[in-house]
Amino acid sequence: MKVFRWIGIIILFLLSFTAVKGQEEEYARLRERMVVKQIENRGVSNPKVLKAMRKVPRHLFVPSKYIDEAYEDHPVPIGYGQTISQPYIVAYMTEVIDPQPDDKVLEIGTGSGYQAAILTEIFDSVFTIEIIPPLGKRARERLQRLGYGNIEVKIADGYYGWKEHAPFDAIVVTAAAEYIPPPLLQQLKVGGKMVIPVGSPFFTQMLVLVEKKENEIVTKNLMPVQFVPFRREKIQKDE
Ligand code: SAH
Repeated sequence: MKVFRWIGIIILFLLSFTAVKGQEEEYARLRERMVVKQIENRGVSNPKVLKAMRKVPRHLFVPSKYIDEAYEDHPVPIGYGQTISQPYIVAYMTEVIDPQPDDKVLEIGTGSGYQAAILTEIFDSVFTIEIIPPLGKRARERLQRLGYGNIEVKIADGYYGWKEHAPFDAIVVTAAAEYIPPPLLQQLKVGGKMVIPVGSPFFTQMLVLVEKKENEIVTKNLMPVQFVPFRREKIQKDE
C-alpha cells in the first residue's frame, strides 16, 4: 500500500503548490491595482520607479499579521513602533531623486527593507542604515533571501551617514528629522539630491528636496507628510 501513500503525498504537494501559486497571483493582482490607483493616478510616471513598484513583493516586507494590508494605501506597523511607508510615498520619494542606474544611493531608516529593495531594483549600488538592531538584521536577512545582492545594510545612527562609501548621488531619509543632518549634506555629491521629511516628530512634517549645487544648497518643499521620528539615542551594538 506504499504506492497509495506516495500518491497521497504527491497530491498534497501539488495542492499546496497550486494554493501558493494562486496566492502569489492574488498578490500580483493587488500590487498592480496599488500601482495604478495609488501611484500612477497620483502622478508618479518614472518608468523605472513604476517597474520596481510592480516587481517588489511588498507583502513579504510586512509582519504576517498585517499581510492583508500590505498593498493598502497607508503605512503598516513593522514592530518597535516603526512603520513601512505608504506605497505612494515610497514611489514619490524614489522619483524625486531623479534615479539614474549608475548612481550610488544611501537610505537612512532601513525599517522593513522595502524602500531599500525598490532602490536596489533601480540603482547599481545601495547602502542603507538602520538604528534599531533587530529591524536592521531582519531587513538584511530578508533582502538576502529575496536575492538582492547590490545592497549593504549597516546598523548605526544614520545621522552620521556612511563616510566610507561617500559621496552619494542621492540620499533618501525615511524618518522625520528636526533639521537636515550636516554629515548627510557633506556626503552628498555636488549635483546630488536628498529627500528628507523635516519637522517635529508627532506633527505633520514637510518633505523636502535638497539639491547640492557648486556653491549653494537649494531646498524645495514638496508636500506635508507624517513619518516616524529620526532617533538619536545611543545604540547598544554597532555592526
Ligand atoms: N524605509 C523603511 C521605513 C521605515 S520607518 C521601509 O521601507 O520600511 C523609519 C525607520 O528609520 C525606522 O525603522 C527607524 O528605526 C529608522 N531610524 C530612525 N532614526 C534613525 C537613525 N538616526 N538612523 C538610522 N535609522 C533610523
